[in-house]
Amino acid sequence: MTLKPRLESFELKVLRSLNIRMNLKINEQSNYMYLKKGYDGERLFDKWLETLTNAHLILNDLLLEYNGTVFQIDTLLFYSDKIYHFEVKNYEGDFYIEADRWYALTGKEIKNPLLQLKRTESLLRQLLVKKRFNHTIESYLIFVNPKFHLYQAPLNLPIVFPTQLTRFMEKLKNKHSKLKDSHKKLAKELLSIHKDETPYNRLPEYQYDELEKGLICPLCHSMYTTFKPILVCNSCGEKERYPTAVLRAIEELQTLFPDKKITTSLIYDWCKIIKSKSTIRKTLKKKFKLVGYSKASYFVNHE
Ligand SMILES: [Zn+2]
Repeated sequence: MTLKPRLESFELKVLRSLNIRMNLKINEQSNYMYLKKGYDGERLFDKWLETLTNAHLILNDLLLEYNGTVFQIDTLLFYSDKIYHFEVKNYEGDFYIEADRWYALTGKEIKNPLLQLKRTESLLRQLLVKKRFNHTIESYLIFVNPKFHLYQAPLNLPIVFPTQLTRFMEKLKNKHSKLKDSHKKLAKELLSIHKDETPYNRLPEYQYDELEKGLICPLCHSMYTTFKPILVCNSCGEKERYPTAVLRAIEELQTLFPDKKITTSLIYDWCKIIKSKSTIRKTLKKKFKLVGYSKASYFVNHE
C-alpha cells in the first residue's frame, strides 16, 4: 500500500509551464530537463513497485531533517523484516568507476551516487534511533534506464542495474511479510515530520504579461491552435473536450500565480483561443464558487 504517492514538485510544475510559455535561459532549461528526467525515472520505478501484492507500505519523496541537515528520500518500502531505502537514478549512457570515483565515458567526473546513498542512509538511521525505532534498513541505488551502463563496477555494490530489475522485483514479491503496528507507527511518524517544500528552489523570475497565453496539449505540450468543443492537437493528434483543458490551464495559472483572483476576464485572456466569455463563465461555474457581485465577482475553489 502506498501511504505517500509521488507528486510532481512545485519547481518541476512551474518550470514545465514556463518552458512552454516563455524562453528559459539555457541553465534554467537544463535544470528543468534534469528535474523532469529524475521524476520520470522515479515514476518508472513506482510502476515496478505497484506490482507488489504482499504486505508492505510505501512512502515516496520524503524530505526529512536530522540535526539541522535536510535530506531527501526517493522511496522507502516497509516489509516486516526490514525497510528498503531506494535512491532512483535515471542516468543514460556509459559510465565507469575508478578508485571509488565515478566518471562519464568522456572522462568527466560525476558525483558518486553511492556516497549520497550512504549519507542518506546514515541520517535516516540516526533519525530512527532518535525516535526509538530499531528497524533494519537496506539501501539500494536503482538504475531504471535501459540505456545506462556502468563499466568496472565491483560485484558487491548495493546497486540494481536495469537488467537486474526483474529479478530484484521477483525477490521482493516472494517475501513473506506481515507488517506490525510498529511499522505503521513509524510510517505515520515519518509522514508527520516530512517537510513540504525544499528549502531552496531555483525558479526564474516571471510576470503574467510576459507569458504566452493559450491552452496546452497534455501529451506533447504544444499549444492548441483553434477552438472547437473537442480540441485537437496539431502536433500529436491528441483530442480532449475543452472544459478539461480549461480546468488544467486554471490549475496551472493557480500554481504560477497563487495570489491572482480567478475572474472570467482573466481566464478568457489566459486561455486565449476561446472567443466567448460566456463559454468561460459556464465552465468556471461548474467547478468553482462565484463570490462577490457583478464586476467585483470572482471564483474560488469549493471548500
Ligand atoms: Zn499534442
